Amino acid sequence: MKACKKCSMLSEDVDPCPNCGGELSKDWQGYLVVVDHSRSEIARRLNITVNGRYALKVR
Ligand SMILES: [Zn+2]
Repeated sequence: MKACKKCSMLSEDVDPCPNCGGELSKDWQGYLVVVDHSRSEIARRLNITVNGRYALKVR
């Protein structure tokens, strides 16, 4: 999987990012699944507004 450099969403090698159209990177760390972004404290801190899988760190 690759992570978006802009929004950190993980996707299955679909370039560009299906969420924001940003560039994808293979160099990422950590893993976060957002099931309900409106109830997730972490999602709010990372400005995540769409449910999905996210990388915590993208280089
Ligand atoms: Zn993106």
